[in-house]
Amino acid sequence: MSIDDVALEKMITNVFLEMMNKEEKSPGESGLHDTIDQAVALARSAQPRFVSLPLEKRKIILQAIRDVALANNKQWAEAAVRETGLGRVEDKIQENILAATKTPGFEDLETEAVSGDKGLTLTEYAPFGVIGSLSPVTNPTGTLIHNTISMIAGGNTVVFNPHPSALAICSTVIKAFHQAIVDNGGPAGVVGMIKTPDMTSAQEIMAHPGIDFLVATGGKAVVTAVLSSGKKAIGAGAGNPPVLVDETACIRRAAQDIISGHSINNNIFCIAEKEVIVVDEVADNLLKFMAETGKAAVLSKEQAQKITDLVVKEDNHINGAFIGKDIGIILKAAGLSDLAANENLRCVVFEADQDHPLVWLEQMMPVLPVVRVKDVWEGIKLAVELEQGNRHTAMMHSVNVEHLTALARAVQTTIFVKNGPSYAGIGMNGEGPSTFTIAGPTGEGLTSASSFCRKRRCVLIDSFRVV
Ligand code: NAD
Repeated sequence: MSIDDVALEKMITNVFLEMMNKEEKSPGESGLHDTIDQAVALARSAQPRFVSLPLEKRKIILQAIRDVALANNKQWAEAAVRETGLGRVEDKIQENILAATKTPGFEDLETEAVSGDKGLTLTEYAPFGVIGSLSPVTNPTGTLIHNTISMIAGGNTVVFNPHPSALAICSTVIKAFHQAIVDNGGPAGVVGMIKTPDMTSAQEIMAHPGIDFLVATGGKAVVTAVLSSGKKAIGAGAGNPPVLVDETACIRRAAQDIISGHSINNNIFCIAEKEVIVVDEVADNLLKFMAETGKAAVLSKEQAQKITDLVVKEDNHINGAFIGKDIGIILKAAGLSDLAANENLRCVVFEADQDHPLVWLEQMMPVLPVVRVKDVWEGIKLAVELEQGNRHTAMMHSVNVEHLTALARAVQTTIFVKNGPSYAGIGMNGEGPSTFTIAGPTGEGLTSASSFCRKRRCVLIDSFRVV
């Protein structure tokens, strides 16, 4: 090494240390904090300054969040899959586009006005203050994009507790959003997170007096935790979405939609088809058309048993090692190498009895059980049982309006998709806005900016009616 090389190396090391020190000296400058106290303190001081910015300025900031998400989309999708080991890059790219482009902003916060003999009454959406948002490993980027846009549109600031298994990608996203907000004239601290999120930091956020409102996007445990916190809370929890196919459906289309909806992102979307219920007289055709998509293999009884033994543990829990994995990996591990060699496969399907564990468990992997029923009425009863009161998502393929209405009424889910893949329910190739926080347990439904605001009324007496 020459003297010049040594000098250069020293210089680079010094610059790196300087950058690290700078971050240490100004906690939260990047959106990342050493402690929850720091994160909450900065979010609290930022909130009144943020909400007092002109609306036009806040609109520019929202657009900057969307732009930065779209500009980094591919890198973020790749990084999320690399770090978490869940899902598929091409589907994560779609997830990010959906969240960045179809999450409503200010248009969701329209002022209501009522005028009459007594004057004028306005109802406006106001911020709660500082939101604590606990986010999942399954959609780390989609949830951060959606929640940031929705929560700050209403003038709130946010402290996130991302899932620890998605720490690096979530730190990248929060830093990018923080920078975009500051670059566009917002205060530091509108979004933030702790550098080492875990269960303890989640507990700290839930108990922190500086947090006004909690949002849990995740499994049953975290939803129960926020609802027991004593604070205003939204819970967006787990699902086990059934799809019912009756004898009137277009069976080929149903097969294509089910395979497409089930296998997106290797089944880690909470809305994705988790089990099929099919009326006996069309069951053989459905399985045949599923195989004809070229994306699904129909397993024999023995093959299905091998997969079940692999992915369901003895204690009747899902084997986490296979959640969100490509089907090739699962098939190989189950000793089904012939099938694993088919690179076009996105999932496997197999016939199952009603009491098969994968019919009842939220598997979050591209392994789809299919249960036969004698008629649509038995199917509706089973679909309701399998949904397990999650109030999450269900699908049905049928052209009989009475059948469709009967399941929709009986199952009481937040999202009900008719004759389409599950993801149409969150605006992907379906009408309507998107969300990655679906609040079934607490009833806000597909959350958006207005879900994270409180309503305030302002009354003017005897004036401002012009007719
Ligand atoms: P998870 O519940 O393990 O984690 C989510 C967040 O909650 C993380 O930040 C985690 O650290 C925290 N957490 C978990 N348990 C906690 C507890 N007991 N107390 C305090 N904090 C806790 O969820 P996950 O594995 O990351 O995500 C997958 C689950 O989330 C699936 O069940 C899926 O259906 C569900 N999900 C639901 C939605 C929705 O909109 N309804 C969206 C995405 C995922």
